[in-house]
Amino acid sequence: MIRSTEAHATRLKAARTLVEDILIPAEAQMDAEDRMPDAARAALRAHGLFGISIPEAFGGLGLTMEEEAGLMLVLGRAAPAYRAVYALNSGGAAQILLRAGSEAQKAQWLPGLASGARIACFCLSEPEAGSDAAALQTTARREGDGWRLDGRKRWVTNAPEAGMLMVMARTGGEGARGISAFAIDPATPGIHIQPAQSKMGMRGALTADIVFDDARIPADALVGAEGDGLKLALAGLDKVRLHLAALSAGLMERLIDEGRAHALRRRQFGKPLADQPAIGALLADSAAEALAARCMALELARARDDGTLRPADAAAAKLFATEALGRVADRVLQVHGGEGYMTGSAAERLYRDVRLLRILDGTSEIQRLVVARGLFSA
Ligand SMILES: Cc1cc2nc3c(=O)[nH]c(=O)nc-3n(C[C@H](O)[C@H](O)[C@H](O)COP(=O)(O)OP(=O)(O)OC[C@H]3O[C@@H](n4cnc5c(N)ncnc54)[C@H](O)[C@@H]3O)c2cc1C
Repeated sequence: MIRSTEAHATRLKAARTLVEDILIPAEAQMDAEDRMPDAARAALRAHGLFGISIPEAFGGLGLTMEEEAGLMLVLGRAAPAYRAVYALNSGGAAQILLRAGSEAQKAQWLPGLASGARIACFCLSEPEAGSDAAALQTTARREGDGWRLDGRKRWVTNAPEAGMLMVMARTGGEGARGISAFAIDPATPGIHIQPAQSKMGMRGALTADIVFDDARIPADALVGAEGDGLKLALAGLDKVRLHLAALSAGLMERLIDEGRAHALRRRQFGKPLADQPAIGALLADSAAEALAARCMALELARARDDGTLRPADAAAAKLFATEALGRVADRVLQVHGGEGYMTGSAAERLYRDVRLLRILDGTSEIQRLVVARGLFSA
């Protein structure tokens, strides 16, 4: 649902300027230094992007899913590491608070997340619990008038700059029903954020493990009912998957533009590469896939807004868009020839970055399981 076509158009225009004038020019520096440049971060905050889907009452933009998808098609043109920093503030942690948090918890955390003053971390995965999140082993035991946390969370995005942690921990027996969600201040004694780990791409969005060693947290850190943690964590996945489908479509469009520009500029055999049918075919296949992903993201975003989205469709969109993005990144690198393999070209950098999107928020194999379940349970 687009609430105001005029406001939406204004927002998209501002986002285009942000992407072209600030985010894309700073990408190479961010990749080289593994740190988001301050000017880019300030601009993302000024545009309100840390609070994309946090309600306006808490200082966010309060976008509908269709508005968010439209915006991500534009913002997706920039390196996805930016998105890993700003969009996670409206992601899993905020969605759990909005769905199940008390008014006091919402007031405590959401304004800081919406403005970007605090960075949210979503702590679900563990060394022995990746795709099988219900197997997580971090424990939260009642002790005194609060909880005691012990365990280790793996590869937490933004952990080195965490301002709040949404931690899924085991409060009961085995399986999904034994898991609860906690909103936690990372400065709590007993919480040890490990050094950032080196990655093949997405540099600038830092990833680190977090160790909980006898960390004492207050009773009111529990979000929602005891035992509802995994259910709450998974409830936000449809939204994240549509967000990633739109992001992927935007990235494909950016990559195609990079490939097109190179094909027009580079001359071999006395003419531009663009005159070679084989090069045109690589970009044509890419354009078809980008268009399909764009249509899927927008159509399903409208379905989510009107309450008719099926989880299997959100999974199908994430599966198709992120897999297609991988193919497009590969083709565009091929269009660049050796230049695409050399460190420093956008084709090389984005090729590394986009690989993560087939792993995050449910791997492609897990999306296929969800799609198949939808087919057989229909
Ligand atoms: C850079 C980065 C940032 C991350 N950030 C976060 C974060 O902020 N918070 C967080 O909680 N987690 C985060 N993660 C973890 C991420 O969510 C997991 O990597 C993901 O869920 C997959 O788990 P895994 O890596 O343990 O793979 P595994 O679950 O071990 O899977 C390995 C392979 O087996 C396949 N597989 C597994 N089970 C099945 C099955 N039943 N059927 C078919 N195939 C299967 C998978 O698809 C995959 O191909 C991050 C990971 C990375 C790399």
